[in-house]
Amino acid sequence: MAVQNQRKKKQSVPVVMFGVLALALIALGTAIWMLVRLGKSDPAAPGNMTPQVAEQTLSSSATEVTTTASTVSTLPADSTAADGSATVTTAVTTTSAAAAASAPATSVTAAPGTVTGISLTFYSTALHVGDKPVMPIVTMTPASAANKQEIWQSSNKAVATVDSLGSITPVGPGDCVVTVTSVSNPSVSAEVKVTVLGSTTQTPQTQPSSGTAPAGRSDIQVINGITYVQGILIANKTYGLPADYNPGLDPTAQAAFNEMAAAAAKDGLSLAICSGFRSYDFQNTLYNNYCNRDGKAAADRFSARPGHSEHQTGLAMDINYAGDSFNNTPEAKWIAENCWKYGFILRYPEGKEAITGYKYESWHVRYLGKDWAKTIYDSGLTLEEYLNIDSKYAE
Ligand SMILES: [Zn+2]
Repeated sequence: MAVQNQRKKKQSVPVVMFGVLALALIALGTAIWMLVRLGKSDPAAPGNMTPQVAEQTLSSSATEVTTTASTVSTLPADSTAADGSATVTTAVTTTSAAAAASAPATSVTAAPGTVTGISLTFYSTALHVGDKPVMPIVTMTPASAANKQEIWQSSNKAVATVDSLGSITPVGPGDCVVTVTSVSNPSVSAEVKVTVLGSTTQTPQTQPSSGTAPAGRSDIQVINGITYVQGILIANKTYGLPADYNPGLDPTAQAAFNEMAAAAAKDGLSLAICSGFRSYDFQNTLYNNYCNRDGKAAADRFSARPGHSEHQTGLAMDINYAGDSFNNTPEAKWIAENCWKYGFILRYPEGKEAITGYKYESWHVRYLGKDWAKTIYDSGLTLEEYLNIDSKYAE
């Protein structure tokens, strides 16, 4: 029995062991299964995302990107948010970066030393058949440019011819355009509008808006209501301008002023245009205000009636301060001594009121081009005296 029992005991040990092992395996399997289930139910668990979850996350972040992109693109239009200005800055940077990228291509067509600008001492002239030739002085920029040799052409040789130096000769009545360019860069040019009237005995067809050309004056032309004396556009108390003459500040006069201001700066002086071009309407308001404040007789001494202001020509400017307190400043002294070098004259000098029609204005200069300005300056005369013309209202 004991042996049998032992045997039985011996036989029952593997059975028990198997049972325990099987239970352990089941428990382990269950534990693993539960862990797997737990893992599946937690989308955040790394490495356990199902394809669907991963896709949702991706499309979600894709939406965010899209939203961000559209937000960025709408910001500049608002330009109210700080981010908007940052975006604008970025856009500008991108643009300039693109420009910088294309710069080498540009520099191929415009090699260093090429003429980039041409200015003339005048851009329009009125001549009679039989008049002596006129010649604008050419300035090509930059000064360092190579091949600045001039090429001149006339659009109509039956009206005016031009030689290789730019000397324009009237041939027959009509209008034409004389163009100058350079060997260096034919794409940059400047033009002179030439009007040729009949022989000097012929009366101009148009009259000035105020005043008339004195009889027997062959050097006075009136074209479209604008008076030219020896080719110089004149606006004073005798010679007026049409109300609709609105040329704006002449770019050549502006460039000459810039040159003058740069020279004054080297002498430690600061020059600025405080009044340049003034339209007929603006002058009308200005003059009427002065009349209301000071009376007409007083206003006529320092302010032009509408149509008679030299400011309406686009060739005159007031520098720094238009008032008597400017008279004795270093700037006023500098302008009086140097402005002719840059093509300007002091238009209303001291002691010439009876001739110019205006009291001394140390701040008012008129652009004539360097040749004419030097000629008038050297003469010591006013423009009225030099050209032998009046400046008096007709009334
Ligand atoms: Zn002025």
